[in-house]
Amino acid sequence: QAKQVEGSNFRFFTEEMNRDVRYRLSLEEDLRRALDNRELYLEYQPRFSVRSGKVVALEALLRWNHPQKGILSAHNFISIAEDTGLIFTIGYWVIRRACEDLQRLKRDCGVEVKMAINLSARQFRDEGMVQQVANIFAETGANPNFIEFELTETALMENIDLVSLCMRPLSYFGVTFALDDFGTGSSSFLHLQRLPIAALKIDSQFMTDLLRRRSERRLVSAMINLAHNLGKVVVAEGVESISQQKWLVDEGCDQMQGYFLCAPHAYSRLTKVIRGLSLSAVLENKEGSASA
Ligand code: C2E
Ligand code: MG
Ligand code: MG
Ligand code: MG
Repeated sequence: QAKQVEGSNFRFFTEEMNRDVRYRLSLEEDLRRALDNRELYLEYQPRFSVRSGKVVALEALLRWNHPQKGILSAHNFISIAEDTGLIFTIGYWVIRRACEDLQRLKRDCGVEVKMAINLSARQFRDEGMVQQVANIFAETGANPNFIEFELTETALMENIDLVSLCMRPLSYFGVTFALDDFGTGSSSFLHLQRLPIAALKIDSQFMTDLLRRRSERRLVSAMINLAHNLGKVVVAEGVESISQQKWLVDEGCDQMQGYFLCAPHAYSRLTKVIRGLSLSAVLENKEGSASA
């Protein structure tokens, strides 16, 4: 009897695996053509400073408008891009497009903020990476002082030697680095201190239970203190409510990002949204609509 159950579980498991493999293979085929077909695009999500209330950065988030599957977020296909090596072409395209839009935004709206760009650790395996990035800055006219690269803890630790080797020259250009999804990976405190990492972004997972669980609040509190003790800026990701926002302000969090404050927008909508956008404007707006 037990054997039968095992057998059927096994069949179910392999069918599911087959489906996964086929799905991945078909996405892989499509991804090879996605750039040429102009199916990839970026959305930008504002990051606010608590102190000034202003938008201090935009995070570029990759999207794929797939002809059959609709709009896919980066986490649906970045690992495929990494495994196939497509991450290099796609990665440089992301950096270039984000730099171009940064320049356009300055020109069209007079807005000068930082551009935060997510990188896979894999991208550092290209020997010419630092040079390529420098070329993109030169060709687009983007000022490296306004570029921040976001790396997840996991990505950083996976490839620590190579990544740290490239971080130095990039930071000499003026680029800053943020450690993404902080608290979910396993970065060593030594690396946190030794590498040129300017900011820690507390993962949105911690926000989910922030107000329900004391243990979560203690963790976030400790992460904020750790960041400050190391002289780093601390950013909360995934802020979805006014009560989370208030708690984070009280705890001394420096910067915030989340649906509650502003969703990611494509460039054309961003230009309409970003003028006059500030924390106080967002809060007034929410209070207004809550009492209406
Ligand atoms: P991430 O860098 O941690 O980006 C934050 C993610 O949280 C984004 O998901 C964003 O849309 C989402 N988010 C924003 N506000 C909220 C909120 O209030 N609540 C919640 N629950 N989520 C919120 P997205 O766009 O699906 O991106 C997923 C991940 O994919 C990113 O996580 C990043 O690691 C990766 N990624 C995105 N674009 C790129 C890229 O161009 N290159 C690479 N290598 N990775 C990318
Ligand atoms: Mg990020
Ligand atoms: Mg993150
Ligand atoms: Mg994430």
